[in-house]
Amino acid sequence: MLKILSIGRNTLGRLAKFADDALPMESCALLLGKEEYTTDTVHDFVLLKNNDQSKYSFSVHSRDLFHAYQKASRSGLSVIGIFHSHPSLPRPSEKDKKFMELNPIVWLIYSTLNHKYSAFLYSDGIIPVQINSIQGMRRSTSLGNKTTSLTF
Ligand SMILES: [Zn+2]
Repeated sequence: MLKILSIGRNTLGRLAKFADDALPMESCALLLGKEEYTTDTVHDFVLLKNNDQSKYSFSVHSRDLFHAYQKASRSGLSVIGIFHSHPSLPRPSEKDKKFMELNPIVWLIYSTLNHKYSAFLYSDGIIPVQINSIQGMRRSTSLGNKTTSLTF
């Protein structure tokens, strides 16, 4: 079963800038969205502080995670993915693989070396996830009797 991560081009651009700006440290963020069949769609994200302040690893303070989960539930979204950057190629490290098994949601990795993305998921082993970048994704939000569109 092929898993697909559907994510706005703008979001990919903003995550890449966040990671490039944080160099030489690794960066991390949580991806919020919805899961539908085999496609996870990103609607929002929360940029996080790398608690390790390391070039080779990342961790997130439980307080920051708590706030991210609160933000997700307030917007009716779930935490569907974990983003982090690598100063090397966008392949999971041994430590990543261990944590992917503990957090079996999509892991999106951005390489600050070649500026490419890749995504993986633990499901009886590490499997690649297809990234579908979408232009100007829109989501309708009802506010009273008015409907507004938000662009991500
Ligand atoms: Zn990593």
